[in-house]
Amino acid sequence: MKLVLSTDNKNKIKEIKNLLEDLDIEILGKSDIGADFEVEENGETLYDNALLKAKAISDKTDDYVLADDTGLFVNSLNGEPGVHSARYASEHNDKLNREKLLKNLLNCEDRSAYFKTQLILIDKNKNIIPLEGVCEGEIIKEERGENGFGYDSIFMPNGYKETFAEMSLSEKNKISHRSKALQKLKIKLQNVNNC
Ligand code: IMP
Repeated sequence: MKLVLSTDNKNKIKEIKNLLEDLDIEILGKSDIGADFEVEENGETLYDNALLKAKAISDKTDDYVLADDTGLFVNSLNGEPGVHSARYASEHNDKLNREKLLKNLLNCEDRSAYFKTQLILIDKNKNIIPLEGVCEGEIIKEERGENGFGYDSIFMPNGYKETFAEMSLSEKNKISHRSKALQKLKIKLQNVNNC
């Protein structure tokens, strides 16, 4: 069985290959099937964007396809930055994004937030299978930690005293939104493989 990802991001491909290594599945990036285009992520939700990316690849192959989209949702900011997480402070710049978020939260008591990863799997019959992972926590007042990327240094998951950026990757992967969604994917694909 083949699974085509709607990305050529090496880290994402590696993470998914690692997770699915004990299943008999060949993982391909989008350029491996000649899909050398970028899909405009102009949807209003993570679901819309993941579906746009998945469908664009599924139009080019009859193999399984997987697309993802992730965002950070801050409750007192009505879910901002949400679907705009990558470009919250205009162009993609993690540091500026974090600074903007801390500034917007200056007068807010409620600093609760959650990361959500939306996966869309499209199977050989073109069925659309949505899978999600959520990690709840809070936005702290100052950056802490050197690891990770994006909003990791200002996000502290519930039940922990460390930010994602103070954890090792393997610690983060035990509780992260992305790993929860990918675990659900693994169970789904295991069932397919057993049929
Ligand atoms: P993507 O959909 O995985 O590209 O994620 C969109 C944006 O959300 C990224 O550019 C980051 O700003 C943010 N983001 C996604 N996942 C994480 C994470 O695990 N930690 C911190 N920020 C993240």
